Amino acid sequence: MARLTIKGVSKSFGASHAVRDVSLDVEDGELVCLLGPSGLGKSTLLRMIGGFEAPTAGSILIDAKDVTSMPPEKRPTGMVFQSHALWTHMDVFNNIAFGLKLRRLPGAEIRERAEQALALVGLADYGKRMTTQLSGGQQQRVALARSLVLEPKILLLDEPFASLDQHLRERLREEVRDIQQRLGITTLFVTHGQDEALALADRIVVMRDGRTEQIGPPDRIYREPETEFVAGFIGSMNFIRTTVKGGLSQHAAFALPVPVADGEVVLAVRPEALSLAVTKGTGTGIVHRSIDFGTHKVVDVDLADGTRLKVMTSSDSDWTTGAPVEPVAAAFRAFRENRLVYEFAPVSARQNDRVFGHA
Ligand code: ADP
Ligand code: MG
Repeated sequence: MARLTIKGVSKSFGASHAVRDVSLDVEDGELVCLLGPSGLGKSTLLRMIGGFEAPTAGSILIDAKDVTSMPPEKRPTGMVFQSHALWTHMDVFNNIAFGLKLRRLPGAEIRERAEQALALVGLADYGKRMTTQLSGGQQQRVALARSLVLEPKILLLDEPFASLDQHLRERLREEVRDIQQRLGITTLFVTHGQDEALALADRIVVMRDGRTEQIGPPDRIYREPETEFVAGFIGSMNFIRTTVKGGLSQHAAFALPVPVADGEVVLAVRPEALSLAVTKGTGTGIVHRSIDFGTHKVVDVDLADGTRLKVMTSSDSDWTTGAPVEPVAAAFRAFRENRLVYEFAPVSARQNDRVFGHA
């Protein structure tokens, strides 16, 4: 069990700034997901925590002890990489026992701990197999066991299941969550998959250009995105560009009160916050297509300005292609230059109508 503190950490490679001034506290036993598009500094941050890369600035503390200049093997961290890099000339048991042998533990203890680790990842009878005889999912389980057997205080996982198909990925991430909670191990999990982050994390760190864009529990990140980037990165979102004049949006389909200074804004509306009203004659939108997912339908609606909306409706509603409809927003957020300037939420939500600074 351990607490991880990252203080103002930056990393530059020549003129390129991979990580910029990141600060983050990960609590004892917490699982935090670093989420963001590829090439934006997630792996670099993780590698600095593991000791494989030295920060250009800032410090890293584990249980209040500064480990910034400590080599990887001295740190109480265990890392699982995207490409598993198992030793192909060794069987599964020896892959897992290797780190324990380096620590010169007695043979009986090595055997016991390696067998426990294998059982933990569901590979109890696989010790004698060569790693080349395992499926991709099994190889990643071995990689995980190889880290866990060293009993790290902090587990670092860098897109460990990215190369696996979706079903396997979903199953393995649930297994990782179970193991992580059973062991109470502080974990940092890097992913570019938003569904993975929403399913796994106690908290999500959304990264952009090497910076943290927003940090919070999954429901906050989903319901209360603080920037247009986060709003568009997590879940499905409709963006409507409009001009505000005298506190009113000038958009034909979304002539809503938006009490901010005149100028351009982007309205962000979730598909589940939209509903459709039937209009007689010409509506403000035209149904393009309706897809039945069994539990709900998603209706694509084309607006006159070329915007295509996604609207979530009940599975028993019926919207025919070409029908004129009027979209109604029950909740939305307005952004200007990526910053939240206004939110309108229904009465049931935590807060109503709020105007933010610099509007
Ligand atoms: P992510 O894991 O989010 O996809 P990375 O942390 O791997 O992103 O990379 C962030 C940026 O840093 C990228 O632009 C990458 O090219 C650069 N980078 C990473 N490692 C090195 C390195 N050893 N030398 C030079 N540039 C690097
Ligand atoms: Mg990466």
